[in-house]
Parts: sequence; structure tokens; C-alpha cells
Amino acid sequence: MAVINFGSINIDHVYQVEHFVQPGETIASHDYQQLLGGKGANQSIALAKAGAEVRHVGRLNNNDAHIKQTLIKHGIDCKYVQCTETPSGHAIIQVTPSGENAIVLFGGANQELSAKCVMAALDSTKSADWVLTQNETSAIDETLTQAKENGLKVAFNPAPMTDAVKALPKECIDLLIVNEVEASEFAETSELTQIEAFFHQQWPHAEVIITLGKSGVVMLKNGQRIEVPAFVVEAVDTTAAGDTFIGYFLAAYADHADAKKALTRACAASALAVMVEGAAQSIPEQDTVNRFLAKHS
Ligand code: ADP
Repeated sequence: MAVINFGSINIDHVYQVEHFVQPGETIASHDYQQLLGGKGANQSIALAKAGAEVRHVGRLNNNDAHIKQTLIKHGIDCKYVQCTETPSGHAIIQVTPSGENAIVLFGGANQELSAKCVMAALDSTKSADWVLTQNETSAIDETLTQAKENGLKVAFNPAPMTDAVKALPKECIDLLIVNEVEASEFAETSELTQIEAFFHQQWPHAEVIITLGKSGVVMLKNGQRIEVPAFVVEAVDTTAAGDTFIGYFLAAYADHADAKKALTRACAASALAVMVEGAAQSIPEQDTVNRFLAKHS
């Protein structure tokens, strides 16, 4: 069993600034970091750390081929991470002393996935394999449709949410994973009971996971409702909490873990992630998750 993740790979340029730059203004940044990011890459790293066999499908600029090596070092199969002339996807992130951020995102090479490369990447899959994708790459429609046609299980995390998501072929999706904001946009209400009623009515064929930040998670599965509370921890940075959750959940669930067990494991991993600053670097190793679960059970 493998997870084939059609996902973004971004370079996050993080600038520490006194305040967000104003129109016409030039300001100095007193600190700068360059970090690996993108929901796709984060989720592949979380899957790999959780012990899944993961194949990433994505695009990078020729000059950023070293990033592929970083993913390979995490144990990710990067045969379908191809390099191109187009700039890599990247984010320009300003962070103020109070921790607020302002972000400019450029999709770049992430937007070069095509129907042809989807076909190629799905060519040697087995029926027990899962396909995972988010909303940061191109050819999502083709990815969902083709994965389903090949008889694979399909997981979709529509983040960041856009209007275009609602027009995607939902009948191809077996597992939808959304946070509260994305769930509210689908259901056009912020009331959780109404959101759940919406998914029961409109997505009866799919399993739906709604992550609720420090309130934990709800999964709707075959007419049932499974709720798991979050672990009580001191959160310092919630970046990549959702990506960690998805990677750890899918690794366990695709390996036939019981849904409640997989949700609990994912809550533990993401609780550990919010206790550490940063994105990919905050995703915990499997041993750490096991120790945390043993201590908290
Ligand atoms: P996203 O990062 O996509 O917005 P959430 O904020 O819903 O996703 O977080 C995903 C999961 O991470 C939650 O379901 C929960 O298990 C865990 N989590 C998030 N914030 C906290 C927190 N403050 N304390 C403990 N666990 C958290």
C-alpha cells in the first residue's frame, strides 16, 4: 500500500519585520529564513515520518533540485518530482514581533502538473493505494477523476479553499479532510451541527473529517459520528497542524487502522506539532508520537 501525493512544494521566504510594509514603503528586515513549505510537501513528510510508503508528484525549478534530495532523505519516492524552467512555488512571508503574518504566494511550478503527468504517475499503482491531493497544484480535476478510474482510494484536502473547489467531481472523493474554515465555506454556515447535516446530506458517499483546532476532530463515516478531543498542550505555533494531522491519519488509516485509533494518533501527532515552531520541522517522528500516546493513554 502506498500513498501517491499530488502536491505543492514551496520555498517559504520568511522576513522578520517591525510592521507590515505599507504601499510605497521600503523597510529593512532584521532576520530572514528560507524554509521548505507547501501543504503537499508537508503532508508527504508527515506521511513518511508516520511510516507510510509515499510517492510525491510535483514540480520544482531546475535550480531548486536540492529540495528533492531533502524529500528523498525523508524516505519519499521522488521519481515524479520533475524539474522545470518555471520558478518554484514560493511564499514571501512577513512576520511582525507579535507573530502576525502577511503572505504573498506564487504557485509557479506547482501549477505545471498536467493530465499527462497525472496519467504517468498513476500508471504503476495498485488497487490498495491511496491518492492524496490539496488545492495548491494544477490538474486537480484530472487527478481525482483518473485516480477513481484506476480504482484507487482518493483523499482530498481542499486547502486553501477557493470557489473552484465546489465544481470538482465530488463523487470521485472517498475521504474529504477539511478544517473549520473550509467546512464552513462548503456548508455556508459556521454552525457545526449544520455543517455536519450538510455533509450527511450532500456527501453521503464520502467519509468526511472536520478538524476543529484545539477542540479536536469529528469524522462522519457511514452515517456515524466519531469525535476525538484534542490533547491539551501548550501551543506555540499551529502552522502545519492540519498537514501533520492528515499525514499521520492517512498513514494509519490506509494501513487499515480503526478510524478512532487513526484519529487519536493524528491528534497526538498534531498536538506535538503545535508545541514546536515552524512547519515541516515541527512534524514529529513516529517514536515521539508513540511515547506521547503511551504517556497520555
Ligand atoms: P489547520 O491547521 O488545517 O487549520 P486545525 O487547526 O483544525 O487544522 O488543526 C488540526 C488538528 O491539530 C486538530 O484536529 C487537533 O488535533 C490539532 N491541534 C490544532 N491546534 C491544537 C492545539 N492548540 N492544541 C492541541 N491540538 C491542536
